Amino acid sequence: MEQTKTQQEISARRLLKRLRDVMIQETSVQEKLNKIVEIVAEELHTHVCSFYFLQPGDILELFASYGLKANAVHETMLRMGEGLIGEIAVQKKALSFPDVWDHPSFVYRPETGEKLFKSLMGVPVLKGSQLLGVLAVQTEESHDYEEDEIDILETVAMLLAQMLVSADFESKSDHIVKPKKDLQSRLEGVRLVSGMAVGKAYIHNRVARVTDVVSSNEGTELKRLNIALEKMDKELGEMLASPDINDENAEIFETYRMFTKDKGWIQKITDYIHSGLTAEASVQKVADDIAERMSMIADPYLKERIHDFQDLADRLRQHLAGRNIIEKNKRLNQNTILVAKSMGPAEFLDYDRTKIKAVLLEEGSPTMHAVIVAKSLGIPVIGSLPGIDSFIQKGDTIAVDGDNGFVFVNPAEDVLTDFNARLDLLKKLRKKYEKLKDVKCQTLDGIPISLNINAGLAVDMLTLGDGMADGIGLYRTELPFMSTAQLPDTQTQTEIYKRALINANGKPVVFRTLDIGSDKVLPYLQHRAEENPAMGWRSIRISLDRRSILRAQLRAFIRAVNGADLYIMFPMIADIDEFIDAKKTLEIELQRESEKGRTLPKTIKVGTMLEVPSLTFQLRELLPLVDFISIGSNDLSQFLFATDRSDPTIWERYDALSAPMLRALKYIADTCEEFNVPCSVCGEMAGKPLDAMALVALGIRRLSMNASSLGAVKAMVLSMNAAEVREYLLSILSSKSHSLREKLRNFAVDHGIVI
Ligand code: PEP
Ligand code: MG
Repeated sequence: MEQTKTQQEISARRLLKRLRDVMIQETSVQEKLNKIVEIVAEELHTHVCSFYFLQPGDILELFASYGLKANAVHETMLRMGEGLIGEIAVQKKALSFPDVWDHPSFVYRPETGEKLFKSLMGVPVLKGSQLLGVLAVQTEESHDYEEDEIDILETVAMLLAQMLVSADFESKSDHIVKPKKDLQSRLEGVRLVSGMAVGKAYIHNRVARVTDVVSSNEGTELKRLNIALEKMDKELGEMLASPDINDENAEIFETYRMFTKDKGWIQKITDYIHSGLTAEASVQKVADDIAERMSMIADPYLKERIHDFQDLADRLRQHLAGRNIIEKNKRLNQNTILVAKSMGPAEFLDYDRTKIKAVLLEEGSPTMHAVIVAKSLGIPVIGSLPGIDSFIQKGDTIAVDGDNGFVFVNPAEDVLTDFNARLDLLKKLRKKYEKLKDVKCQTLDGIPISLNINAGLAVDMLTLGDGMADGIGLYRTELPFMSTAQLPDTQTQTEIYKRALINANGKPVVFRTLDIGSDKVLPYLQHRAEENPAMGWRSIRISLDRRSILRAQLRAFIRAVNGADLYIMFPMIADIDEFIDAKKTLEIELQRESEKGRTLPKTIKVGTMLEVPSLTFQLRELLPLVDFISIGSNDLSQFLFATDRSDPTIWERYDALSAPMLRALKYIADTCEEFNVPCSVCGEMAGKPLDAMALVALGIRRLSMNASSLGAVKAMVLSMNAAEVREYLLSILSSKSHSLREKLRNFAVDHGIVI
């Protein structure tokens, strides 16, 4: 197999041409496979080439072979993970072994006559991420396979995959799971963006398969590539100017667009065109290479970027095929539920977003760009729905309960009626809540309650303009950090915070310093794998260890308020020292800004989140030092009950409306009152009417929540008598029950409290 680079290029081209000739012949798939393995062995100068086909039951059947004993074909079966072929199938990646006899996983099958062969190289045959089989070559002598050889075999595997999923073979194969028509079912996924919707399914296809792999004219392919690149760049430019692009997602698209000009990327595509592939196949090949490399990276943020690269490759291939988004959008139902395996941000925005009522994803996580963009547009998203795109068919009726992560496929009449009734009710309630806008927010016994919103995405701000909120009780600053490839500098941050202040229209904005770590990973911060990331190097711990990040952020806050009032809070403070240290850094920054002659804030209020239980036991010492406390009930209950908040299997195991949590909250509220320090709650509890009722009863006077919860919580506040609820709540606090929720709910219903 000793060849020079040019010789290899020539033989790769010849190989592809020979394979194409076989594929267009009017012969059976088995005959084609027999011929293909023979050609591959000949062109790669190997003694063996075999194809193992994945059969139902996860069995790899030797389906065609040149070089192994003919009797072994259709007789030799390997399980997934069995032997080196099984290993390649499990890992779904190319592996090569100079001498298989040295390898502990090698399994010798006498019927194949393999005794003669030493080296082995195999590649998975994939349709998307679905394994179809394994293609392998072997030689008698020991041999170290080179990158180029692996590349050629991978290209052949791509061609094979193409052929195997072609129409006539597909119908005979059990591999392709046919969706069951008119199936009624309920699927459970993970809530990524909450909300409800009913509509017709539209399956987002990751662009049709590459049908033409081998090119007939290199020059034409290069020209087509350049034209497609130009068109794509122009289109992304137009997308950036669209009204759907807001502060946060603009950065996503800028970075994304830069990639389209990346010389390395374009060069790699060009190289594949030179090797004899069509432009489409070359783009796909480079995307596959990137995906394979990135799939080995542990960092979840970088893993998510695979979707962006796929998106870009698909978009380029669409341009090569003559893309027509307008036609696609015309075909969409007014109420469309978009169903996808995964998605990049630009792919998502290709759809007419006024028609998209919800998105269902097979994969997906809160940090996926398409999810961030959907959230910024207020579109519910459910993720972690394995096999969803083969389970649901275009046109199926889908009801989405984004709050609970449920998807109803072709729901029965009664489910649909119930859903529509709930949607109607939501609409009516929204209208009713609008009327409460100018009503003073106070309980029946005259206790004023301040309602605020949790923000961090531009769309959250729109509701503040409706006048229901007194301000922003929690401004999460991490999203702009997560959506870009590098740390936003002070100037960029200043602009973002300035816009938040402008949108808040003079109402207070409580900026929380970076709460990164746990599930929110920044690609540019060195992140080693952690056993328990929620309790690891995160939040204020990172800010204090990487002081320059904290300093830049504090500077940006100071500059953004530009002489007005500044509210800052630090997250995840676990001991007083951390707070003192962080506050000292703020003082230093104020001093520096003053020395530079910059305008300092008129007033500065510095507080801390209370979300780590240890801080509760230092409250009396902490309170004289802070201007306010904000209880992060999400993290506080996570740590109080030792339940991972990101693990849906234990979400409902413990209830925040239970004696331990409520007692902790009561102690915090009472102590803050004693020290005359304002105390708010900004976790999810604040936005749920029944939970908020309990919080008010315990003495909490400030609540901060998602904008969509404001109306319901205000209606609850207006209908409750705080003293009455408190008396009842205190009377049941010593209960041994797992939860006090039912008791509180009954009380609310009996007393006409709107929950
Ligand atoms: C909380 O922990 O309750 C909180 C508001 O912070 P986050 O949800 O951003 O962790
Ligand atoms: Mg928190």
